[in-house]
Amino acid sequence: MGDDKVKKPESEWRQDLTDEQFAVCRGKGTEAPFSGEYWDSKDPGMYRCVCCGAALFDSDTKYDSGSGWPSFWQPAAEDRVATQTDTSHGMRRTEALCRACGAHLGHVFNDGPQPTGLRYCINSVALKLDPKK
Ligand code: FE
Repeated sequence: MGDDKVKKPESEWRQDLTDEQFAVCRGKGTEAPFSGEYWDSKDPGMYRCVCCGAALFDSDTKYDSGSGWPSFWQPAAEDRVATQTDTSHGMRRTEALCRACGAHLGHVFNDGPQPTGLRYCINSVALKLDPKK
């Protein structure tokens, strides 16, 4: 889990987020592939947590994975994204969470490009692009 530096009761998250944001970020849901705002975006900027605004991924590390979800090979800083084992849906995966607020972001896989070999497969709805000026 995240460090939960940003703590709010579920009722407040429900008020502050759209239904889809709440379902994904607080309910560990997944948006349909090729449906989100950012899967195909090449706009430069910083992708922030839609829940708390933490800087999560720089567009410089975004790449086209073909998955239909925004994919990054590295977080914006080592301590921004927390991981934990997720055994739901009969799979063993690594879940990615915002360290600051505990938001579910997506999953991390080992089939990414160099130099990390990682693929952070992230729901668009969990992100808000802060465009480079
Ligand atoms: Fe967050």
